[in-house]
Amino acid sequence: MSEILESYVAGRWSAGTGSGREVRDAVTGETVTRVSSEGLDLGAAVAHARAKGGPALRAMTFHERAAALKAAATAVHEGKDRLYELSARAGCTTRDAAVDIDGGTGTAFVYASLGRKGLPDARVVVEDEFIQLGKEGVFGGRHVLTSPHGISLQINAFNFPVWGMLEKLAPALLAGVPTIVKPATPTAYIAVEAVRMMIDSGALPEGSLQVVAGSIPGLLDELGGQDHIGFTGSADTAAALRGDPAVTRRSAHFNAEADSLNASVLGPDAAPGEPEFDLFVKELVTEMTVKAGQKCTAIRRALVPADRVDAVAEAVSERLAGVTIGAPGAEGVRMGALVGTEQRDDVRDAARRIAAAGTVVHGDLDRVDVVGADAERGAFLSPVLVRVDDADRAEPHEVEAFGPVSSLMGYRDAEHAVELLARGEGSLAGSVVSADADFVDRVVAGAAPWHGRLLVLDRDSAPESTGHGTPMPQLVHGGPGRAGGGQEEGGLRAVHAHLQRSAVQGSPAVLERLGSLGD
Ligand code: NAP
Repeated sequence: MSEILESYVAGRWSAGTGSGREVRDAVTGETVTRVSSEGLDLGAAVAHARAKGGPALRAMTFHERAAALKAAATAVHEGKDRLYELSARAGCTTRDAAVDIDGGTGTAFVYASLGRKGLPDARVVVEDEFIQLGKEGVFGGRHVLTSPHGISLQINAFNFPVWGMLEKLAPALLAGVPTIVKPATPTAYIAVEAVRMMIDSGALPEGSLQVVAGSIPGLLDELGGQDHIGFTGSADTAAALRGDPAVTRRSAHFNAEADSLNASVLGPDAAPGEPEFDLFVKELVTEMTVKAGQKCTAIRRALVPADRVDAVAEAVSERLAGVTIGAPGAEGVRMGALVGTEQRDDVRDAARRIAAAGTVVHGDLDRVDVVGADAERGAFLSPVLVRVDDADRAEPHEVEAFGPVSSLMGYRDAEHAVELLARGEGSLAGSVVSADADFVDRVVAGAAPWHGRLLVLDRDSAPESTGHGTPMPQLVHGGPGRAGGGQEEGGLRAVHAHLQRSAVQGSPAVLERLGSLGD
């Protein structure tokens, strides 16, 4: 790997200048690469996407784009061993890397299939039958969806360098919109490698995919009303981007997926020994330990009936005690490292703030036993469960520790549980683990306005459940309020979101011909 990580801009691979930002191995602390976009012509990247990528994609039908997407994702799938190796340097176990890499290619394959089956072999989508607007039926309207003449800029978080990129690339490509990827610096080397696989496959028209490793000064100045900015990351960065004149003045489309304090609720019916009790405990431990808790959808707040806090604390602690932490690939390791020591220190600080509202019932913020690595050089942290006796305290509902940290609280009744869920002020995912139909319905109805997705888990759905933390490409991902207010995925909804919807009015004959527009 070259000293400075290469970017793919305007049809060629080139490295930025200067000393760049150092990216260290999450496990050993050794330098992996340096990231700099200094000296790269970002204006040329936008111009290239507009001049080459856009026209080439718009000349293809939805089915042709779906085939190109499938071929590009296949190249990533075939190169996944290399991506797994790189992911281990970011602290990921095989299970963690699978969520990102196989999750990413799987999402792209679902989109390729939806594009082939759900979109026409044409360049426009026509919605609605003839909507009559006059008495005689000689005048009416329909809606038509066309590809904008813009680009899709995706700005991604560090935790899912492959999935985060492919889940945004897939709908943009299908919509005929070229993409510029700006990966997060700590894991940019993984995203860039996946882009290289797609470029080398030759599946995508030149200009339809570029990647800039490093910061993107001035790039938003090039964007306007035909463009789309898809952001995933912290609420602060989302706020800064949302306030950029590209969005506020020139009306570039802006979609944000930010942090959230997702919660899971254990139903009153689920006493120890009931399948739902075990499902809840298992799900919580999985969410705390997969990707070392660095998942935007992870369970940050566990809400249980007030008289069951002790039993849940005990069962979760017992299970967490069996999780071996250490170097990915080392004997028995089930939880790896956080992405870097800076991130670990941030998580420790946030966890301390939550812990100040309660008691740590499992784990130690300052000490962790690890296998196959040095606990201090690597970005390791033990899973930490904080019991908060006063569920109405602010900290657990306000502070996000983006790591293996969850709080455990008791609720009084369904109304109180809903109230606590809503205290997150907008979450990506929530779950209710219960077989009590009345309780489930009250929580779903009460909590839905604050959630992008709700999982109801019980003994019946458990065998096929995809889990609390896994967004599915067929269903929407994104939540209101604190979660960013955006929406991605949701099957073809995400493709439609990249297309321009226009109402066309005219005679039945004119509207009948809309389907062949662009042929
Ligand atoms: P971050 O610091 O906000 O960074 C996110 C992305 O924004 C990175 O690519 C970053 O680049 C870029 N960025 C920062 N400042 C920018 C600017 N002024 N202009 C353009 N780009 C800029 O967040 P993070 O630390 O990577 O991610 C962790 C957060 O993301 C957590 O809060 C988590 O909850 C959230 N998250 C949400 C989801 C979701 O789907 N909703 C998924 C994953 C993570 P650099 O890295 O180069 O600075």
